[in-house]
Amino acid sequence: MGLHEDSLEFGICPSVSGFGPKPLLFGIWYLEFDPWSLEFGYFCSPLWRTGKEIVVSGIRSTGFLHLGNYFGAIRNYIRMQEDFNCYFFVADWHSLTTHPDPKDLRGNVFRVLAENIASGLDPEKVALYAQSDVPEIAELYLLLNMLAYKGELEKVPTFKDKVRLQPQNVNAGLLTYPVLMSADILIHRAVKVPVGKDQEQHLEMARNFAQRFNGRYGELFPEPVAFNFGDNLIRIPSLDGNGKMSKSENEMATLYLADTDDMIRKKVMKAKTDSGPAEEGAPMPETIANLFLLMQQVSSPDVTDKFKKDYEDRSIRYGDMKKQLAEDMVNFIAPIREKAKELQQDQTYLNRIMKTGAEKARASAAQTLQAARKLIGIEYYG
Ligand code: ATP
Ligand code: MG
Repeated sequence: MGLHEDSLEFGICPSVSGFGPKPLLFGIWYLEFDPWSLEFGYFCSPLWRTGKEIVVSGIRSTGFLHLGNYFGAIRNYIRMQEDFNCYFFVADWHSLTTHPDPKDLRGNVFRVLAENIASGLDPEKVALYAQSDVPEIAELYLLLNMLAYKGELEKVPTFKDKVRLQPQNVNAGLLTYPVLMSADILIHRAVKVPVGKDQEQHLEMARNFAQRFNGRYGELFPEPVAFNFGDNLIRIPSLDGNGKMSKSENEMATLYLADTDDMIRKKVMKAKTDSGPAEEGAPMPETIANLFLLMQQVSSPDVTDKFKKDYEDRSIRYGDMKKQLAEDMVNFIAPIREKAKELQQDQTYLNRIMKTGAEKARASAAQTLQAARKLIGIEYYG
């Protein structure tokens, strides 16, 4: 199957391979080497095939989603779903590095799916799937592993952290986590990856692996970049100032999308503060800056400005600020929590979404894998 038939599948612009003048149909035509057929020809720009750039991102099925997942990743997913060709997945293979209880896995996968949809993701507009439903990813992971070196993998800060935190379980999956993540992204030849700040370095590795593959075997993969609407990638800190909010660590300092109103209030009121700004112009302590960061995400700009002004003239009362933040947080989280609860009652619907998403994802993944095999020389029967 060539690029040409695929473009028909998307229904935008049929393309004709081979040399010579070509009729201009709907797209931008150009002469290019086609990795699918391994020949030169006139093609329509990939952008015109769907009219959209390709986006991939995933969330591990390691527990309840939290504000960090929402503001670092999901908020971007929702904004991208209109204008990009999006593949979003539940990273169940990635969750196996910590050997979760098999009884919990299924529930965790469907919860992540439901919480994504409850946050505003429209499964009709994006491919929403489970990583393990797309076996092509595992094969590309194997192929990329041949281009990944032990030394570089051992230097990854997230790997070093895990070694420190779980010295009894430093498995090869943990070491090659960035390779699997690269396969997740490159399998759809994605260009943009909406993720939080903690994933920045993994994206750099994905670009390295893409480059290495292209250099050795021929152009196949674009170099993907970490993406966030606005300027910088986001990191939502934990409420006690120790690291980031996380699904699998620091439960009482993380605000989950499934937290009850009372639990949200309790956690926010316990957030770490100090006795107030000591002198004018002194730098803002990290824990206070963290509270302002959270407020900026969920409160109206005039509320945040009021507390900023109170901070500057040193009249701020952190108790009042936290009360306000807690109420705004409750208003933000409660509708998502309720919607996610409702969705989790409808297993038939969730099954259908996940199956349809896997079909879309496999169609795209199979094309890339076929091209990768061909470039490597794994092509014995043609
Ligand atoms: P785990 O503790 O199991 O690793 P996690 O909370 O770190 O869970 P991931 O599944 O690893 O979540 O990451 C899913 C997405 O959420 C990624 O794009 C990641 O960058 C983003 N993310 C996770 N935590 C935060 C955070 N505190 N702030 C911003 N983005 C975050
Ligand atoms: Mg993580």
